Amino acid sequence: MEKTTQPAEPEKVKCEVCLKEILRSEAKSAEAVEYVAYFCGLDCYKQWKANSQAAQSPHPNKSAS
Ligand SMILES: [Zn+2]
Repeated sequence: MEKTTQPAEPEKVKCEVCLKEILRSEAKSAEAVEYVAYFCGLDCYKQWKANSQAAQSPHPNKSAS
């Protein structure tokens, strides 16, 4: 009886911000509108989030103060 399990190749993804290749299992991910974005670390995640929020709300509602 031979096992036919193939060696699991680590799946790699690219950081959405700096494009560095990272293991998917170690990547931070965030569900964007139509895809999932991966990040090498929290710094890139924060940067992406700041960018996406800036792009999504060009006219932010300012609360009356
Ligand atoms: Zn990165």
